Amino acid sequence: MYFWQGFFLYMAPGGLLLAAALAFLQHEGLSRWLFGITWLFPPALGIVAAFLGWRFNRSRLLFGTLVLLLADLLLRRYGGVAQIDQLLARYVFHLTLLAVPFNLFLFSFWRERGIVTGQGLRRFCFILFQPLLLAGLYGVRGPLIVRQLEAMVVPLPLLGPLSSPALVVSVLAGLGLLFRFRRNRELLDHGFFWAMVCSLLALSVGNPARQPFLFSVAALILIVAAIEAAHRMAFRDELTGLPARRALNESMLKLGNTYTVAMVDIDFFKKFNDRYGHDVGDQVLAMVAGLLGRVGGGGRPFRYGGEEFTILFPGKVLKEAQPHLEKLRQEVAAAGFKVRSAGRSGKKQSNRQKDGDCGKKVSLTISIGMAQADNTRKTPSAVIKAADKALYRAKNAGRNQVSA
Ligand code: GH3
Ligand code: MG
Ligand code: MG
Repeated sequence: MYFWQGFFLYMAPGGLLLAAALAFLQHEGLSRWLFGITWLFPPALGIVAAFLGWRFNRSRLLFGTLVLLLADLLLRRYGGVAQIDQLLARYVFHLTLLAVPFNLFLFSFWRERGIVTGQGLRRFCFILFQPLLLAGLYGVRGPLIVRQLEAMVVPLPLLGPLSSPALVVSVLAGLGLLFRFRRNRELLDHGFFWAMVCSLLALSVGNPARQPFLFSVAALILIVAAIEAAHRMAFRDELTGLPARRALNESMLKLGNTYTVAMVDIDFFKKFNDRYGHDVGDQVLAMVAGLLGRVGGGGRPFRYGGEEFTILFPGKVLKEAQPHLEKLRQEVAAAGFKVRSAGRSGKKQSNRQKDGDCGKKVSLTISIGMAQADNTRKTPSAVIKAADKALYRAKNAGRNQVSA
């Protein structure tokens, strides 16, 4: 289960798109048809990326797509396909292999600063300046650069000959992007990773016809990642990483006749905010959400709102869900909460106990109310209401317990 979750997390959607594109290319008729209309992709993808980048306020989508399409354009014009000049073609090939991973990795560090802003325009200039710089460099040192890079070529399976600087930049950029995705869970970084892999495959020599197609797939990967990120923003709670209320509402529509709902509420949560500040309160929420995410019995946690969570157990009756909730309650109580840093002020500066509290473990418990669907409670909202009442009973009975 964990393996497949991890696999999908790292593959979808970029890796799956790339795999589909490579599978298409195996089919001769299909790939011939695709290569016939490949000229259509760059302008179409460019327009879509510009529109989404503008509407979703995702300048990095636009910049990433611009770099990919620019690389494709230069390679078509001077590189493998139109071999006007052997030396120039090799120069463009080797330097594109260096520039694309470098740029995509760099963009993952760029904070959102808009497109038609001072910063956005400076970034445009930075991107458009690079081909000019490379052209200038070619005029002065072109043959030398090509000779030096080709002296360091390593033949690679799948990718063909790659200069070792390009190999180093690609590997570092790839690892860096994966690391950033692991840390920030930014889907666009994930998209950048797969777009980079795709553009490396595009550049694998011996298949010049594939190159424009795969560059378009790379741009498509970025666009799909941006759409997925927007979808996620609507359905995931940013603070806890759990699915949000909107996702709960959708999941409730898909429940069958048998299911159990649990409402979870952190006990005396206000005291965390008041004593240690709102930031620590947020850390408590994230920590509890982490434990909720590991609940067994097929329970699916959601952030209901504030310090309340809902866990759905589709297909499970009360008795089946109960032991898992009891275990969860015990886990939270056993874990407690370690105050690392007192954050933004609570109610009063004097209320806040700062440095003395650092590293201290404070008690943290949850109360849980649960209810199952039956003849008297047929709709999910009626079941939630019943679980809420049970939660109220758990609170009144002294908290840190599960009530049904
Ligand atoms: P009880 O044991 O009865 O549940 O007591 P409680 O203090 O947990 O309950 P109460 O509902 O009075 O307090 C909930 C508090 O949660 C109030 C609100 O300021 C805080 N809160 C809601 N959402 C957030 C959030 O996203 N971050 C932080 N830090 N606090 C939040
Ligand atoms: Mg509450
Ligand atoms: Mg509470």
